[in-house]
Amino acid sequence: MPKPKVLTMPPRKALALVAHDNRKKDLLDWARYNRGSLSGHALYGTGTTGRMIAEELDLEVNCLLSGPLGGDQQIGAMIAKGELDALVFFWDPLEPLPHDPDIKALLRIAVLYNIPTACNRSTADFLISSPLMTEEYDRIQYDYAAQLRR
Ligand code: PGA
Repeated sequence: MPKPKVLTMPPRKALALVAHDNRKKDLLDWARYNRGSLSGHALYGTGTTGRMIAEELDLEVNCLLSGPLGGDQQIGAMIAKGELDALVFFWDPLEPLPHDPDIKALLRIAVLYNIPTACNRSTADFLISSPLMTEEYDRIQYDYAAQLRR
């Protein structure tokens, strides 16, 4: 078993928002309902999702590239560099997309780095209403590098 190390997440989280086209309305409804909570965090989003949240809800969102153009990979890289604390990712369970490999990669990285990840609305409700969202949280991460060196 790899050695655990602890990363302390701050009370103000860096939170990424991503929604595929068929799920954007769902994410927008959720974000509107939770606008007050979201405004206390640093928000990131893939291009179209991020702009939608920023414009519709008048929230500051750091917009990355659009998902199909590499936005999911940018979010994955932020997670790997320890720059993101949580992910709300409403991916489309009914339609294949051209960037399916990027989507799988992002979900894999989120699990690898033990990032709280919500892929549907009920999980997103549980996530955003958790007291841990506004407190420090010691996130355990395993040192897989040592394991891979063997
Ligand atoms: P978008 O990307 O926010 O630019 O639509 C989302 C995605 O397809 O991953």
